Amino acid sequence: MQKSEALFTRAQKTIPGGVNSPVRAFKAVGGTPRFITKADGAYMWDADGKQYIDYIQSWGPMVLGHNNAKIREAVIEASYNGLSFGAPTEAEVIMAELVSEIVPSMEMVRMVNSGTEATMSAIRLARGYTGRDKIVKFEGCYHGHADSLLVKAGSGALTLGVPSSPGVPANVAEHTLTVEYNNIESVKEVFEAHGDDIACIIVEPVAGNMNCIPPVEGFLEGLRAVCDQYGSVLIFDEVMTGFRVSRGGAQERYNVKPDLTCLGKVIGGGMPVGCFGGRRDIITHIAPTGPIYQAGTLSGNPVAMAAGLAALTQIKEPGLYDSIFENTQALVDGFQSLANKHNISLTTNIAGSMFGIFFTEVEKVTNYKQAINCNTEQFNKFYHGMLEQGVYLAPASYEAGFVSKAHNADVIEKTLAAADKVFSTL
Ligand code: PLP
Repeated sequence: MQKSEALFTRAQKTIPGGVNSPVRAFKAVGGTPRFITKADGAYMWDADGKQYIDYIQSWGPMVLGHNNAKIREAVIEASYNGLSFGAPTEAEVIMAELVSEIVPSMEMVRMVNSGTEATMSAIRLARGYTGRDKIVKFEGCYHGHADSLLVKAGSGALTLGVPSSPGVPANVAEHTLTVEYNNIESVKEVFEAHGDDIACIIVEPVAGNMNCIPPVEGFLEGLRAVCDQYGSVLIFDEVMTGFRVSRGGAQERYNVKPDLTCLGKVIGGGMPVGCFGGRRDIITHIAPTGPIYQAGTLSGNPVAMAAGLAALTQIKEPGLYDSIFENTQALVDGFQSLANKHNISLTTNIAGSMFGIFFTEVEKVTNYKQAINCNTEQFNKFYHGMLEQGVYLAPASYEAGFVSKAHNADVIEKTLAAADKVFSTL
């Protein structure tokens, strides 16, 4: 760990907290973040040469595994022609066509550079299109760090938004109404009170930022019905679930059609790419066809498009998702039976290749309150034990885990052997 420790000390002198995104700093679990030098398939290596099985997968993008040869070659090839033109390219057209084909509700799409940009722009579009200011989001759902989305609930289900970060003006946050995930009644109540002022509902159709919480039966259908009743826009934030919980995302898996969809992570194959899109009659309201402004110097960047196209072409491979889902199920079942063997109270959630493990006595975790009331001390011990054994989980109990094509039976078996050892020490 010497090299990671030295780099972390050095980093903290010029980078706030030593990291460029807070969760990387290990604050929730304590200890020193590992500085990574390379990754391949299911594995990563740190600056001290230690190998890890990686279940973060760059926080979701690497559904094909790290350092995918076709993506890497596409990036190298594209780079020979220049890194950015600030003018349209054929690759952007092919990308838009491919996204529409895989996610048919996205009749038209606009490329951006991150998930945050996608959700921020989709919200502006929904507001501009409806002429309404208020938005509804769910407690524990994360949609990136735009001002109006950095808001969580107060105590009651109908609480008007309070900013969850200094720097977010109260009069911006007050337009964000926060309700309980998987509780359709709380949504109906907020619409009864404010329905005519609500531009949109934005939701993670499988919540992946309060650990992994799939939608309960009828929840997404209920959101669709409420939006239809009040003329509000339904936005699925599929930045995490897109091309992951099924090839066509959560909307395909649960068969509910949103008006707008936000994508990120997998769509860039590891490069900084996001995208939003949906109903033609809504999205044509953005510039230059409409008055709602949205733009980006590097949007649709040719090298990023090459990476994304190489990723999306490969996810069309027949049978790919079945095999990733089987391995995810084997992993989660293995965790559960080992926890039972060691008398540890643990429950799991799974949605395709996303999974969550919860140290709790609750039988099934379906909401934010249950997720935050888990035994974080036990998770932290488990986390460090697994890290020591060479298994790299997300360094916080509120994060989902990800399985890729490269996590084969052998990798899963090694992970479970490590978990068996670590559970015995808890
Ligand atoms: N939406 C969801 C569901 C996310 O999980 C994230 C990031 O983790 C974002 C939006 C923001 O994406 P980015 O970090 O690319 O800005």
